[in-house]
Amino acid sequence: MALSPSKSHLLLTNIALGSLAQSPNPTPVSSLQESTVLRQRLSMLEIANQALFELLQEKLSVSQDEVLNKMEIIRKRIEEEKVVCPKCRRLMSASRETCSYCGSLLHPDQPEDHWRP
Ligand SMILES: [Zn+2]
Repeated sequence: MALSPSKSHLLLTNIALGSLAQSPNPTPVSSLQESTVLRQRLSMLEIANQALFELLQEKLSVSQDEVLNKMEIIRKRIEEEKVVCPKCRRLMSASRETCSYCGSLLHPDQPEDHWRP
């Protein structure tokens, strides 16, 4: 599937805003539709990553090792910010209010509105 430059730009903008999966008229979507949208989004994220990496190399002479080291630092940082769901024992991001697998509160000892703006 070839995209025109403007269509491609629109997709990248959608990725940046995280809005690709949100339609203007929200209707229930099948898991097939959802996985197609997620695959498209993943593909565009891969392209965006590659573009950023190539620009880093070309314009700032950032090496692949520096990128890989930074990825490892970020991966460890994200891992440290995980909490174990009290019900299903899966690892979840500490910033989440509820478990995305079973829906349990991840911070049951905190007041419920603590995590809401
Ligand atoms: Zn859970």
